[in-house]
Amino acid sequence: MEKVIIVGSGCAGLTAAIYTARANLSPLVLEGSHPGGQLATTTMVENFPGFPEGIDGPQLIMNMHSQAEKFGARFSYSEVTDFEAHNDHLRLLADDEWLETRSLIVASGASARWLGLENEEKLIGHGLTSCATCDGAFYRNVPVCVVGGGDSAAEEALFLTRFASKVYLIHRRDKLRASKIMADRVLACDKIEPIWNTAITQYLPDERGEMSAVKLRNIETHEENILNVACVFVAIGHDPNTKAFKGILETDPDGYLLVRHLAESKHPGVFIAGDVADRVYKQAITAAGSGCAAAIEAEKYLSGFPH
Ligand code: NAP
Repeated sequence: MEKVIIVGSGCAGLTAAIYTARANLSPLVLEGSHPGGQLATTTMVENFPGFPEGIDGPQLIMNMHSQAEKFGARFSYSEVTDFEAHNDHLRLLADDEWLETRSLIVASGASARWLGLENEEKLIGHGLTSCATCDGAFYRNVPVCVVGGGDSAAEEALFLTRFASKVYLIHRRDKLRASKIMADRVLACDKIEPIWNTAITQYLPDERGEMSAVKLRNIETHEENILNVACVFVAIGHDPNTKAFKGILETDPDGYLLVRHLAESKHPGVFIAGDVADRVYKQAITAAGSGCAAAIEAEKYLSGFPH
């Protein structure tokens, strides 16, 4: 029987691992197939406190990983596919093996949705990103585009006007789905040019493999043209990674896990941290903070059991 299993090794999971390991709980971290979470695919992180010069996303994650390991955290690349909650213990199916634990911290994150175009994976971090807060400042005085028509796309487009020379907002409909206040702000902004009824059909990188343009197609007229942009910000939503916990842990209508009090779920011993429950902030530092809270709550919960 494990004392604590942590599902996910992004900022939230690794912070929970540091705290539970320092509390001598010897946590087992199940990293799954995307170790490091979203930070592992970011380039420079300039807004994580303590790094005035910025730090590479993968480096930040590696630092957290070794910090957790130093205090006794154990790691496995197993992917959790099933979960059972019993009164005094929990069971997880990870790579065909059932694991038992007294407590669980679910920090499985959320995955950005992508367009599914050719070369997409190769271009992430090379002019293709899903996070304006993370990468916007790298694109000063150059044209960029945002894809999507929801609040995220509106927010990203407005944020990017601080840096880019021009922000094209490419949306597959003729009006935004974003809340009225956000949509009004976008439409009133001179630096943002909406391109309606349009989809990106191809990314066009330069010879160095950096994004330099995209091919567009008007969905109604089928007219095609090329738009020069130094970066494409995809903001078509995120999907919280909750598949293994479906039907047992509570979610909101969009699938984000519901946190009842601090980091607690409705099941005793199950704690929740990071983007899997966060539809608002989605920042490395807020994920780290909630990982810390989940670890402290798990430690308190475990103190009720004999050693
Ligand atoms: P969203 O509301 O689901 O919007 C996603 C947008 O992407 C939609 O406009 C959708 O088009 C488009 N889209 C989806 N799949 C696409 C594809 N394959 N190709 C092209 N376009 C595609 O997601 P979100 O903007 O991330 O917002 C999620 C939730 O968080 C919302 O409830 C939102 O209000 C909230 N949020 C709030 C704030 C805020 O209040 N400041 C900020 C961010 C997010 P269609 O319109 O055609 O469906």
